Amino acid sequence: MNAGQIKGMNEWQVVVVGAGNAGLCAGMAALQAGARSVAVLEAAPKETRGGNSSLTKSMRFPWPDSRYISALLRGPHDHRVDELLAGRSRYTEQEYFDDWLRVSGSRVDTALVESIVRRSSETVRWMSESGQRWVPRSDPLPGDFPVVLDGGGQGLQGRNFACFERLGGTVLYQSAVTDIEVADPGRYVLRGAGPAFPIICDALVLASGGFEADARMRARHLGEQWREVKLRGVPFNKGAPLAAATALGADTAGNWERCHVTPQGVHLPDHLLPGQMHLSHGLARYAFPRGIVVNRDGRRFFDESSEYSSLAYVTLGQRIMDQPGKIVYQIFDNRVIEAGVLPKGYLTDPASVVAPSLEDGARRLSLDAANLVNEVRLLAGEKRLDDPPFLFVPAVAGLTFTYGGLAVNVNAEVLGGGEPIDGLYAAGVIVGGLYDEGYPAGTALMAGSVLGRRAGTSAARHSLGVRGAA
Ligand SMILES: Cc1cc2nc3c(=O)[nH]c(=O)nc-3n(C[C@H](O)[C@H](O)[C@H](O)COP(=O)(O)OP(=O)(O)OC[C@H]3O[C@@H](n4cnc5c(N)ncnc54)[C@H](O)[C@@H]3O)c2cc1C
Repeated sequence: MNAGQIKGMNEWQVVVVGAGNAGLCAGMAALQAGARSVAVLEAAPKETRGGNSSLTKSMRFPWPDSRYISALLRGPHDHRVDELLAGRSRYTEQEYFDDWLRVSGSRVDTALVESIVRRSSETVRWMSESGQRWVPRSDPLPGDFPVVLDGGGQGLQGRNFACFERLGGTVLYQSAVTDIEVADPGRYVLRGAGPAFPIICDALVLASGGFEADARMRARHLGEQWREVKLRGVPFNKGAPLAAATALGADTAGNWERCHVTPQGVHLPDHLLPGQMHLSHGLARYAFPRGIVVNRDGRRFFDESSEYSSLAYVTLGQRIMDQPGKIVYQIFDNRVIEAGVLPKGYLTDPASVVAPSLEDGARRLSLDAANLVNEVRLLAGEKRLDDPPFLFVPAVAGLTFTYGGLAVNVNAEVLGGGEPIDGLYAAGVIVGGLYDEGYPAGTALMAGSVLGRRAGTSAARHSLGVRGAA
């Protein structure tokens, strides 16, 4: 591209595509590393900014001792630390790494996962210094991470935007990137709809999420049955920057045929928008280890208590897609209802049914009653369902994000032919290779923060002509 073609373009040192948590972490880190002009391009209008990150709740990270958690809670909550940790003195990096591989399978990029795990505590400290806050989890299920982001994903993203802008960054809204070209080695021209384009930059970070919101890409990669599916997240993540990067020669990684999908209340709309975080939290149907799960035929198809729900919820979501009618029913007995351990969304769901007997509940929801009664008779060990009345809660699958993405190294450099592509970085869900089968809750935000921070630092150094590892 010659100087005449470049003249008149909107010029930035570092451009980040996507204003989710990963993109804003990259933007903040780029400014802290010395870049003076940093723009984040966001497809959504300002009123619906925030991405899927604004609908989240928690991050998973290792903690060395209770003081680490106290320091995060700062202030009125820190006296509750012992109660919160319920006798658990630490969550080591090794335990974190083992949980990740056990749940997601070993066909992940283990070097990348390990580097994320090792940099998690330090990244959380950086986020805390940048203004992030955590509070005790108010409605923990067994095995849940003890602390959550203050104000959930909405709070996370409000603080991310504030910090990025305070540092001098600019967000350009309604600026969806459709194409990426190489201007000269290490510099990129971005094209898309909106007055900001064309844009030229000295380093580029891609953080635009997966392709979960694009029906055609879903059908091509996940399979035809995924063309029609409800999204738990925003309708903006259509995968255009991911496709543009692969057209430039970027390598892909991870399992493109799989995705993160979880059990949700049947009133989940076709998609959600930032600002609907409380609706999203209320629709989660993750208390299944306290009861049983059957399909429309009254059959169990999944071992409800094999893992904590925060480790098994995606596996159940994936199995729902294979059940008749793609709907399942979680059933609890009065012992559980009376114990007050079910999340509020379960008890207020207008689609749920309280029935005096299993047969009655099955009849009202058109389940096969004989099969259900037989399944309950066969329950073994700790699991019992014999104290009426029974609560039946229907659940469907809600797609969260896709697993397939770009290949990056531990420095968040995008690879092409196995080598880093000059000046091109990626972070967040657009990165592949982190998940293969199941998913341990809270790891995606953590991975996005670690790689976002690294991508932003590396991009700033590249734009400033600094050579060598950060
Ligand atoms: C309901 C819900 C709850 C979740 N809860 C958790 C949780 O508690 N913990 C956890 O770890 N993970 C959770 N996740 C997973 C979550 O998606 C990731 O952890 C994380 O938020 C992804 O961050 P990201 O920055 O990669 O993507 P996003 O936050 O989705 O950001 C991507 C951004 O890119 C923009 N964009 C897309 N295409 C373009 C384009 N062409 N040009 C410009 N901009 C574009 C989008 O508008 C969006 O703002 C949840 C997801 C959902 C949907």
